[in-house]
Amino acid sequence: ERASALAGGLEPGALADGTPIPLLANLGSPDGSQKALEAGAEGVGLFRTEFLFLEQRMAPTVEQQREQYTRLLADFPGKKVVVRVLDAGADKPLEFLNDAHEDNPALGLRGLRSLRANEDILREQLTALADADAVSEADLWVMAPMVATVEETRYFVRLATEYGLKTAGVMVEVPSAALLADRVLREAAFASIGTNDLTQYTLAADRLLGSVAAYQSPWHPAVLRLIGEVGRAGTAADKPVGICGEAAADPLLAVVLVGLGATTLSMSPAAIADVRLSLRQHTLDQAKRLAGIALAADGAVEARDAVRAAIAGEA
Ligand code: PEP
Ligand code: MG
Repeated sequence: ERASALAGGLEPGALADGTPIPLLANLGSPDGSQKALEAGAEGVGLFRTEFLFLEQRMAPTVEQQREQYTRLLADFPGKKVVVRVLDAGADKPLEFLNDAHEDNPALGLRGLRSLRANEDILREQLTALADADAVSEADLWVMAPMVATVEETRYFVRLATEYGLKTAGVMVEVPSAALLADRVLREAAFASIGTNDLTQYTLAADRLLGSVAAYQSPWHPAVLRLIGEVGRAGTAADKPVGICGEAAADPLLAVVLVGLGATTLSMSPAAIADVRLSLRQHTLDQAKRLAGIALAADGAVEARDAVRAAIAGEA
């Protein structure tokens, strides 16, 4: 795994003190594999499966899904691949899943909620994933989007286990899940923080609405405090905590996220090189100190400025 990244002249993600921070890719279809590997991605931290369902009148068959998942896993032998089950609803509505009108779709039947209401679709997806896993050399992890409660975590992990998918986790992108991360991580094998939605829900600002775009900053100390809560829970339970939202692609924020307890970072392949470089410039102790500085700020802009100033002072 490490060898193939090195063969491409790309070192694995690590801090200045050698602490490994695997850098993974966010992919929206198996077509992105090549770019991810060229960028030295050490695996896939978020495989979004919506491409199989969007603009379809009906759900794809198990066979269609199996083919796509098999293709994806074949590109990452020996590497971790985290597949997220369908995240329908809100910004990704599907006519066969989200038929009722919702005034506030981001607060509606989306993510795991909508799969639970259409459990046959979730079961078919898990069947296809288990089939692909059986013939693959990749390390398949599965996770559910938009998990808000411990009970939902238990539900998803139980169902995934039923299909032989052993490493089942959840996305933490709703504040309730972050606040109860210790209990969520009693059930789940790992957590992956979706900072796009976590920011939207923490600051009550629609991520698609331009007029409130200023609120959509993962630098906000309220968001960072929630991430720190998950990081602490992960450390205590000795379970991985990844970041798979846009925040991980910001080289400076990436260091802060590691300081808050993130153990892996997943991002679009184009961002990997800059994040790799940035991590190499800080030790874990420095990252923790910078996280403390960001947490102590009053707002997002202040947090970023304070971290920048602190780094300039270190140099
Ligand atoms: C997120 O919410 O941060 C995330 C990674 O998921 P998506 O952007 O697909 O909602
Ligand atoms: Mg999300």
